[in-house]
Amino acid sequence: MGSSDLQGEAYLRSQPSQCRPTEVPLPTVRVWIDQDLCTGDGLCVDHSPDVFVLLEDGIAYVAESGQALNDPGGSGSLAWVAPRNGADVIHAAETCPGECIFIEVEVPVAEVPNLGDEAVA
Ligand code: SF4
Repeated sequence: MGSSDLQGEAYLRSQPSQCRPTEVPLPTVRVWIDQDLCTGDGLCVDHSPDVFVLLEDGIAYVAESGQALNDPGGSGSLAWVAPRNGADVIHAAETCPGECIFIEVEVPVAEVPNLGDEAVA
């Protein structure tokens, strides 16, 4: 390896990486339960006790930071789902016998450069 090879390697190392993965924002996931359809079997709590709770009325509610969101409940009480709980919440919704667990996903839209009229042509 000649000295010009070493100089070239040093040059490449000093340049910002063109292959560095860009940070992709995670989608925001929220979940709510339609209590009118809930059977109270508790399967959701089995799947994700961080996100679902059964209250004294025998019905499931979503929760955040250990706090049940039962006022007002239904679609008026959406709980944020931590990424670590996402798969369990999806599984709970898939197996819920009341089909009353609803997941809402907000996907961030990447900024699209304004290409002006040239992009239309
Ligand atoms: S799994 Fe569905 S029906 Fe069963 S307690 Fe949870 S929300 Fe209610």
